[in-house]
Amino acid sequence: MKVDLLIKNGLVVFPKVGVKQVHLGVNDGKIAGIFEDVEQIEATEVIDATGLHVFPGLVDAHQHLGIYNSIEEDFIDTKQHAVGGVTTIVNMDRQPVSYLDFVPQVQEIGEKNSYIDFTYTLGILTEQHIDELEETIEKCGITSFKFFRNYERQLNDKFNVDNGIDLSSYDIVRLLEKFKSISPKLLLAIHCENMDINRALIKKYKDEGANDGLKTWSLTSPGYAEAESLLSTLYLNNVVGGNVYIVHLSSGASVDVLEKMPWLHDSGAKVETCPHYLCLNEEDSLDAKVGPPIHSQSDADRLWEGIANGTINSIGTDHVPNSRDKKYGKGQGVFDTLYGFPSVGCLLPIMITEGHQKRGLPLERIADITSYQVAESFNLQSKGRIEVGADADFAIVDINSKKTITPEIMHSASDYSVFEGREAAGWPVYTVSRGEVIVKDGVPTKENGRGKFVRRYI
Ligand SMILES: [Zn+2]
Repeated sequence: MKVDLLIKNGLVVFPKVGVKQVHLGVNDGKIAGIFEDVEQIEATEVIDATGLHVFPGLVDAHQHLGIYNSIEEDFIDTKQHAVGGVTTIVNMDRQPVSYLDFVPQVQEIGEKNSYIDFTYTLGILTEQHIDELEETIEKCGITSFKFFRNYERQLNDKFNVDNGIDLSSYDIVRLLEKFKSISPKLLLAIHCENMDINRALIKKYKDEGANDGLKTWSLTSPGYAEAESLLSTLYLNNVVGGNVYIVHLSSGASVDVLEKMPWLHDSGAKVETCPHYLCLNEEDSLDAKVGPPIHSQSDADRLWEGIANGTINSIGTDHVPNSRDKKYGKGQGVFDTLYGFPSVGCLLPIMITEGHQKRGLPLERIADITSYQVAESFNLQSKGRIEVGADADFAIVDINSKKTITPEIMHSASDYSVFEGREAAGWPVYTVSRGEVIVKDGVPTKENGRGKFVRRYI
């Protein structure tokens, strides 16, 4: 057999299944064969992966490109994703305009600037979005949407429009019903946070003049505010028989809900958490202000338990590119600092170091929650898997060589990282996207504009 690329002698990490020493052949950007021996294989290009682990390229479905910078700038910055082993992203955006106009525009900008493959999850904000749902799916190839419970009853003010939906509990029901009537592949990603509690507590702590960094921030949206919203979301999802994906689980209280009431997500609800909820706590810098807030070390420990016992099945970074200047542009106080921070560039090293090396999480579980499960949830049928016919996307890593996390090492355009100064192992030596080596020895090797929009079908 003749192949374009042969990755030989690697320890291949098959999601869920385990690690096997096999050889991978690639033709036309797709996995063409998984071989026990390579004597009969003729290859144009060979990567000797002896001693390295070959993960499926990571799929990060929780990105916020274009929030604080231009969308062009943030797509250019996707080189850092590749350095960290991420080969596909789903960008979550929300605009009170017709998505029939919006998607072709961002698709064009992305294909001119992105370093890796991408698609979009679109926030449902207006009746127009609901009316145009079928057309958006068919014409734009989008099958995932987002419901921001955190904008409940405040959407019109936030976006300065008059046609916003309330984002009420009933809006969840009617949307899930509509999705179900179109296709079971449609996904509704939901931010769970009880905003009556959150808004009341923000006012209370502001009035009191509280300003103790992440500790104060944690108090403004306690774990129970998320758990209560999670409970009602999953309950309504069960009533309808819908397909929901809970974004960024942040609290031990929410893990309690999932463990004590497994029937709530028996219907197949997917649950994501983020590296910052797993690896940071309220003692860390205000750089890590995010919504929902980062809580205590015991919350982080419970989230790791949720991953180990399967109640949490996806990792997304909630990556928000910005600079320190922008983050603190409105002031240094806890209530002035902007939400979000960049975090994607060290996703795999963080999971390997903190999850596998410190907590014994099997590598195949890490591959499962950072690629396969995410691709399955978001209907990315050719991504996140090591199977013949799938896109040849790989993160080929040395799980023993450690580096100190800095923005520079990640080739990030941002000037800070909430993980800065930590030692992490498991950096990609090579990142491969559709059969093309795009990172070698931790350095991007190609030009921007090679990423493709991934069209999805129902
Ligand atoms: Zn987010």
